[in-house]
Amino acid sequence: MLAILSDIHANLAALEAVLADARARGCDRFICLGDVVGYNAEPEECCQLLMEAGVTNILGNHDSYITTGENCTRSKVVAGIIDDHRTRLSPESLAWLSRSSPLIRDGDVLMVHGGPEDPLDQYVREVDATVFPEGITVLFAGHTHVQFSHRFGEKLFCNPGSVGQPRDGDPRAAYAIWHDGQVTLHRVEYDIERTIAVMMERGYAPFLARGLPQGAQINGRVDTILVR
Ligand code: ZN
Repeated sequence: MLAILSDIHANLAALEAVLADARARGCDRFICLGDVVGYNAEPEECCQLLMEAGVTNILGNHDSYITTGENCTRSKVVAGIIDDHRTRLSPESLAWLSRSSPLIRDGDVLMVHGGPEDPLDQYVREVDATVFPEGITVLFAGHTHVQFSHRFGEKLFCNPGSVGQPRDGDPRAAYAIWHDGQVTLHRVEYDIERTIAVMMERGYAPFLARGLPQGAQINGRVDTILVR
């Protein structure tokens, strides 16, 4: 059974809770749709745990800010956190992040961080049947931090949501299980206060943590994915 995680964003308590829940449900394979790093304070610990679990990572935009050295240009806050993460990541974790795949294609299944048009940085916030590229009937995409799945006839679109920074109004860690052609969406309670305590201990500004208990972005915004 395959668990599909996304947008872990250096939140170790959330990642531990999701891995435990997925294993208890019988998952023995794990794919991450990217963004292991960014936002929260435990990038090294998350990389180590993912390596131990044999997780395959797809490159997310935050991962690429680290591995390419081209930092985020649209947010100074994001760029500052990436600079902090560079000081926390071991050479081993950096090398592992650098080996992330741009996407995974297996037959008619496509997995990306963003979307089919830009695997790294497309936000799929509205979906219809045209979202599927030629030959693809199952599309997994992360990046928006909104848990969502919808069938268009034979075709299936799924965003497993975010492990470490949900933005859909539900603060619980999100992931999906893909088994026998069926997707199921899961939410797991985790110790949010533990994540916030590590952020404070490591000198992160309090505003960086304020979306976590709300299941919102740092600025308080809650997002959705719409079916057109
Ligand atoms: Zn993300």
